[in-house]
Amino acid sequence: MSALVSVVNLKKYFPLKSGMLDRVAGYVRAVDDVTLDIDKGETLGLVGESGSGKTTLARCILKLIDPTAGEIFFEGANMTKLDEAAIREFRRHIQAVFQNPFQSLDPRWSIADIISEPLRTHMRMADKEIDDQIARLMSFVGLGEEQLYKYPHELSGGQAQRVAMARALVLSPKLVILDEPTSALDVSVQAQMLNLLADIKKKIGLTYLFISHDLSVVRYISDRVAIFYAGSVAEIGDSAEVFTKPLHPYSQALLSQVPIPDPKIARSKKKILIKGEIPSLVSLPSGCRFHPRCPYVKEKCVRDEPQLANVENRMVKCWLCQ
Ligand code: SF4
Repeated sequence: MSALVSVVNLKKYFPLKSGMLDRVAGYVRAVDDVTLDIDKGETLGLVGESGSGKTTLARCILKLIDPTAGEIFFEGANMTKLDEAAIREFRRHIQAVFQNPFQSLDPRWSIADIISEPLRTHMRMADKEIDDQIARLMSFVGLGEEQLYKYPHELSGGQAQRVAMARALVLSPKLVILDEPTSALDVSVQAQMLNLLADIKKKIGLTYLFISHDLSVVRYISDRVAIFYAGSVAEIGDSAEVFTKPLHPYSQALLSQVPIPDPKIARSKKKILIKGEIPSLVSLPSGCRFHPRCPYVKEKCVRDEPQLANVENRMVKCWLCQ
C-alpha cells in the first residue's frame, strides 16, 4: 500500500510564557518527533491517554496549526512548504469530524445550508446540482430528506453526527480525520455510527485517521493502530497483531484494559496496572519517556531514548525489543 499522508519527524511545541515580559519559560512538547504513514484506503487508529498529543497531531495534519519542526507529505507534496492557494486546495482533500457535532454545526443554519455551504464556496455548481448532491449525501449517511430543513438543535446526537459526516464528505475528500467521533453518543448509537463509517469507507474508498481513547472501538474499526504515549509513538502496526500481542510495555498495559465479552476468557486475562501518571509534556523524563512507570526499566532506559525499530512486522520504541 502507498502512503496518502507521511508524517516525518514532526514536532509541535507550545511555548510557556511567564512574567511581565512574557519570557518563554519552557515548552509543552505536545508532539515530539513523530514519524508515521497513513496508507491509502486504510483506517489508522490512534490511541493513548488523554493529553498524549493525539489531537495536536491531527490539528497539524489538518493545517489548523503549524508544526515546530518536521514535515507532512500529502500524496507526495510537502504540506509544510505550500503557499496559501495550494493550502486552500489541499483543505478540500482532508476533512474532519469531531466529538461534539453540535459544536461544529452552526445553530443558525438549516442542515441544507450547513451541508451545501462548502459546495457554494468551493465549486461552481447550479442550485439544482447542489440540491441533488445534498439529497444523495443525506441518503448516503442514513438520513431522510425531511431532515434538511431542520436546525441542529432539532436533531439527536446520532443524527447530528451523521450531518457532520455528510458535511465532511461533500467535497469528496481523500482523508477524513475522525477525532473521538462516537464518544458523545449512546452505546447503541455508537455501534450504528461505527457501522456507517465502515460502510462509507468501503463504498467510496476513503482513508480514515481514527482517534479515540476507547480501545474496543479502535480495535473494531482500525486496520493498523498507533499507540501514543506522551507526545510520541510507542508502537505502530497491524491492529489485529498489536491487540493480540502488544510488544511495548505501555501497549501491553493499555491493551490489557480492553473489555473481553467472553467471561471465561476475561477471567483468564490479567489486567496490567500502570503505576504513576502520564508525565508532564513540559518536563519529560530522560531516556525512554515511559521509564518511570515501566516494570522492566533498566539503566540504559533512563539514560538513552530508544527509537522506533522494526520488530515482528511492526515498529516499536523500546530497548527491550531491540
Ligand atoms: Fe520500559 Fe525500557 Fe522499554 Fe522504556 S525502553 S518501555 S523503560 S523497557
